[in-house]
Amino acid sequence: MTVTSHNPFTATVLGLPRIGPRRELKRAIENYWVGRIDGDELRVVAEALRADQLTALQAAGLDSVPVGTFSYYDQMLDTAVLLGALPPRVAGIEDPLDRYFAAARGAESIEPLEMTKWFDTNYHYLVPEIAADTEFALHPEKPLGELREALALGVPARPVVIGPLTFLKLAKGVDGSDPLSRSSELVPLYRDLLRQLADAGATWVQLDEPALVTDLTDDEIALVRETYAQLSQPSERPAILVATYFGRPGAALGALAATDIEGIAVDFTRGTTVSDIAGVPALSGKLLVAGVVNGRNVWRTDLDQALGTLGTLLGSTGGLAVSTSSSLLHVPYSLAAETELDPALRSWLAFGAEKVTEVRTLATALREGTEAVADELTTARAALASRRTDARLHNETVRARLSALGPDAIRRAPAAQRRALQQERLQLPPLPTTTIGSYPQTPAIRKARAAFRNGEITAEQYRERMRGEIADVVALQEKLGLDVLVHGEPERNDMVQYFAEQLDGFAATAHGWVQSYGTRCVRPPILFGDVVRPEPMTVEWITYAQSLTDKPVKGMLTGPVTILAWSFVRDDQPLADTARQVALAIRDETVDLQSAGIRIVQVDEPALRELLPLRAEAQPDYLDWSVTAFRLATSGVSDATQIHTHLCYSEFGEVIDAIAGLDADVTSIEAARSRMEVVDDLNAAGFDLGVGPGVYDIHSPRVPSVEEITTSLRAALEAIPANRLWVNPDCGLKTRGPAEVESALRNMVEAARAVR
Ligand code: GLN
Ligand code: ZN
Repeated sequence: MTVTSHNPFTATVLGLPRIGPRRELKRAIENYWVGRIDGDELRVVAEALRADQLTALQAAGLDSVPVGTFSYYDQMLDTAVLLGALPPRVAGIEDPLDRYFAAARGAESIEPLEMTKWFDTNYHYLVPEIAADTEFALHPEKPLGELREALALGVPARPVVIGPLTFLKLAKGVDGSDPLSRSSELVPLYRDLLRQLADAGATWVQLDEPALVTDLTDDEIALVRETYAQLSQPSERPAILVATYFGRPGAALGALAATDIEGIAVDFTRGTTVSDIAGVPALSGKLLVAGVVNGRNVWRTDLDQALGTLGTLLGSTGGLAVSTSSSLLHVPYSLAAETELDPALRSWLAFGAEKVTEVRTLATALREGTEAVADELTTARAALASRRTDARLHNETVRARLSALGPDAIRRAPAAQRRALQQERLQLPPLPTTTIGSYPQTPAIRKARAAFRNGEITAEQYRERMRGEIADVVALQEKLGLDVLVHGEPERNDMVQYFAEQLDGFAATAHGWVQSYGTRCVRPPILFGDVVRPEPMTVEWITYAQSLTDKPVKGMLTGPVTILAWSFVRDDQPLADTARQVALAIRDETVDLQSAGIRIVQVDEPALRELLPLRAEAQPDYLDWSVTAFRLATSGVSDATQIHTHLCYSEFGEVIDAIAGLDADVTSIEAARSRMEVVDDLNAAGFDLGVGPGVYDIHSPRVPSVEEITTSLRAALEAIPANRLWVNPDCGLKTRGPAEVESALRNMVEAARAVR
């Protein structure tokens, strides 16, 4: 076989962040959307960002650099463009860039593609739509263009494209057809693409197949083998690296190894062991790209441990390259910008740039021996030792309190008994109306927060402004006639960051942005030590709101699982232990709210589904500890205090039993799309607590009519008895405009009254 001549490489990463070190791309794209710059100006910004990044990676010592993981919005959408699989509804848009953004965000009377979470990360991808009549066709301009650009800079470029199986597995069949059944149609397109990339100068091409770390059927494993046997058959092609990440590839590893591909990337930070590799003799002819530097967390790598793993792998494969476990998309660019971080904490961390250095250090050690990197190893060992012994990692009070808790700490009285006690106290009408917590975050609120941050207004002035907002929101709810009120959350920048800033054991970064979706970026806090709540976090705001009304005001808290999911969490103890510590802090807050006279407390867990392990065998353990953490957080209050929870952003099918297990008195759930399915599933699971299946979709600015909401409530009553049904929108209102919110809620209250 005469595959394009290729040298095995030794040091790489699987993919790159793209928002720009200072979110330059985000700004440029948003400027393009509002017409402040044109397409050419946007392309100039993008090209400069790519050039800086690629040359820096080469300078840092990588001998193979991923190219093409750049995106104006999302890599799955890019792949849909590549394969000619954009939905027909955008086809009429002439300009390619505008067509692309229309698929991503919608346009005048065009619905965007659906968005959902990328495996178990907080990154959201766009779900390609495949219909029986979708005709695939290759449009390779983006990967070819970015390859040529990189080669012109002298960068050892390795084009990266999402593989056909992951593309199809994550796509959605819009007419009931199964996208995966179309894989044989994609083979010729990928072959054509590989050939064109080779012609343009690529010696290696990486095909990303993270879907191979999920549970696959025997037929699917056979399909892996068949697809890659076909892709690796032609002789005129670059060497093929198939990248698996986010977990153990399991049987897919043998299937891949049985084909003629040249390399396989494996994630060693998520349970893959050296014996998994030794168990596949066919790997002896392949380059193994060993992901020993974690691409998902922010912690410095234990280089000695990584070298141990690499050392044992030597000899069992045809070649060995050092890599990050996944793309660096999921971590901030560089620690260099974090000048304000506590120096000890800073020494324990590695962001994107530092992870690249770790990869190079490990590759040098493999090639030249550890003496060649003696200084790096010494520094790394010292940092790790300082982390192990830092006093902030162990708080004996919290640990003692947790170990003293017995089984009663997660138990409340039977649901029916609680319901009676709560009803006696709250005197709510049937079909009580409420909202999920936040009200519109108006420009005035954001201005006040910025002014406070910049020192332009005092803490007292800021507090007064927020109180003003709360008073307005309470007055509005009184006027509209809602039954259970909220304070509106004006003081919260973000539902996790707000709590992280007030808890010991967390640190905030200044520039640690990561892409969440499109131009939306988040700055996850770093949970590094034992979690302690020095003082109440929300009581003052909630009791102020309660002082303005006789109606019950719900206290609003974020649950332990969501706090973990949206932070960078310490890796030196099991997640379950960290969850219990966070739960204890939330529990203390619920008890303080109750003591201050608050009768209802909501603990949001929108990320419950997100952390669900990708493999079924690991799911029961996760569901057990996550449910326990929620119950620990919510069982400290008396039976007369009503606990609410809110779930959103996902398909709940797989976690229905866990939702029942939370044992919250009332669960509001985002279900505008499949409302009755969730309710039916809950009924089938024997759920008999309060439930508020969102009666309208807050993600759209459209105001639902009274008739619409009435119809939806009547439908809900078919499945849920009146004494358990709550009436609420499907999610928080912070992204909506005040006028829409007022009209929508007015209609909602009117519909509830009509149905009563
Ligand atoms: N209480 C939060 C809010 O209303 C819940 C946010 C969410 O569902 N993600 O904004
Ligand atoms: Zn929500």
